[in-house]
Amino acid sequence: MALRTAHNLLLPPVSGRTGRVLTALLKNRQIPQALLFAGIDGIGKSVAASLFAKAANCEIPPEIQTDTQALESWSCGECRTCRKIDSNNHPDILTIDPKKNQIHIETIRSLITTLGFTPYSAEHRFILIRSAEKMTPAAGNALLKILEEPPNQTHFLLTAAKVSDLLPTILSRCQIIRFQPWPDNVIESHLIDQYALDKPTAETTVRLAAGSQVKAIDLANKNWVNTQKWAIDALERIDQLTVRQRLILAERLAQKKNDLETLLIWLKTVILEKVKMQSVAMASHQTNSQRRASMKQLINRYEIVEDALYFLSTNVNRRMVLEKMLLALAADSAPNKSSIREF
Ligand SMILES: [Zn+2]
Repeated sequence: MALRTAHNLLLPPVSGRTGRVLTALLKNRQIPQALLFAGIDGIGKSVAASLFAKAANCEIPPEIQTDTQALESWSCGECRTCRKIDSNNHPDILTIDPKKNQIHIETIRSLITTLGFTPYSAEHRFILIRSAEKMTPAAGNALLKILEEPPNQTHFLLTAAKVSDLLPTILSRCQIIRFQPWPDNVIESHLIDQYALDKPTAETTVRLAAGSQVKAIDLANKNWVNTQKWAIDALERIDQLTVRQRLILAERLAQKKNDLETLLIWLKTVILEKVKMQSVAMASHQTNSQRRASMKQLINRYEIVEDALYFLSTNVNRRMVLEKMLLALAADSAPNKSSIREF
């Protein structure tokens, strides 16, 4: 899979403290043997890795005025090395991606063989291992051996959504760089300014993207919110649907593939927002037991959707999972027939 380049992104891949840590490493020419870029998917970790590799190897590095200049400005983007890295075609910048959701020991063994040779041309050879948490224990242990005695001129850039999913022995070898999602209001403004989305569509897109700028841009490009509007509307008013309508909804949702996961993640976000609102409203007129019951109901709903997402990732009957979820979600509230609309 080709690396994404910075211009494909909605916003610069690194900002604030994260960017300053990376540029300080470049300035002092102290590139660690192993870096771990940690943060949720779709916030620019791979792009930052590519920019970092370019900055370390650029043949005509631009003059840097201040240490705080954005990572993008530390490489020319036009020399042979930069262009090869941009096209994912540089023999010394290697990328490993999970295959079928795993990184196997064979892949790491093959990497070890490659690393037995000296780099072709790069001053700094980089091995980018994306979603490093997908390494099997055997693959992780094999990698650990190289991390303990890395070949000359070789640096490892690992990415992971959660630091805690990696072997502690691997973590102890890495300098961890944490990537923060862009604030929702910043992504929302960009969607309105650059993609001409109206405010409600931009708001829903931001909710769906859950902090991922790559996902936000992808959804905006597909006009996703408008094409899935019926499903969003139906899920938003699940409390008002009759049992029959919920079963029809389950049938229609079961026909969706990738979009279904996005819809359910969005539904979780909506429930989570209600949990937050409920905690803010704690001082309101409700009694303690009412508040506790209401919070318990929301947490229960969140878990119902999480369970459904888990089962949908396995080989089970999708429609049955959705039926169970939609019936359970509404089990704690009686449908209000007066406000039901067909969907
Ligand atoms: Zn260059």
